[in-house]
Amino acid sequence: MTKRIGVIAVLLVAVLALGLAGCAQQPSASTAKVLKVGAETTFPPFEFQDEKTKEYTGFDIDLMKAIAKQMGYEMQIQSMGFDALIPALEAGQIDVIASAMTITEERAKKVTFSKPYYKSGLSIVVKSDNNTIKTFKDLEGKRIAVQIGTTGADEAKKIKDAKVREYNSTSEAFLELKAGGVDAVVNDLPVNQYYLAQGGAKDAKAVGEILNAEEYGIAIAKKNKDLADKVNNALEEIKKNGEYDKIHEKWFGKKMQ
Ligand code: GLN
Repeated sequence: MTKRIGVIAVLLVAVLALGLAGCAQQPSASTAKVLKVGAETTFPPFEFQDEKTKEYTGFDIDLMKAIAKQMGYEMQIQSMGFDALIPALEAGQIDVIASAMTITEERAKKVTFSKPYYKSGLSIVVKSDNNTIKTFKDLEGKRIAVQIGTTGADEAKKIKDAKVREYNSTSEAFLELKAGGVDAVVNDLPVNQYYLAQGGAKDAKAVGEILNAEEYGIAIAKKNKDLADKVNNALEEIKKNGEYDKIHEKWFGKKMQ
């Protein structure tokens, strides 16, 4: 009996020692695997800098944190222009793109997209006192501001005789609208809604039908098949365990889909 207790005691000490050793290792971030996430970080509410803390925040940021954690990685954001993201991924400077990036055929030739993670679409924003633009058709011949390299830019370029001006960020496009340099902004619906809700509605409004056939995906380099599988598995897992819904609710309120 005493011998048995002795054995148990020794085992307990061993387990404790191992546990402590494990704890001691955890805080050294250098041993954790890092997932480099590329994003254009002026696209609220998906990715932007918190004014006070200067930390990156938003739906995509929270989503990627959850996905990285699920995969056993730490996430690190690398901020760059939207049109620089795919080249950076191809060059191996980043591991994934999470930047409200719409899954398109054109992009899918260059990158592997995860399963869709957010349904989106495009919409039009004009100045509050504009009563002539009510539909995409009304944009014919008009000056339209867009963000460079986006689906909004592609759509605007399809409009007859439109003068499309491309800006590095959506906020610059909105500033140009405010300044009267353009007649409209064509951009992702949830981002337009957020802009209007955050004060933009003082002198701008949303008009027209919504083109809602877009879905966002996480992009992974074509050669990185393993990573694409891991990202998809993690995404599926956080959808199952309720984490995705929590993040969605935090940024958009209760899910309606
Ligand atoms: N969803 C749009 C696109 O993929 C815009 C994305 C963005 O500006 N971050 O083109």
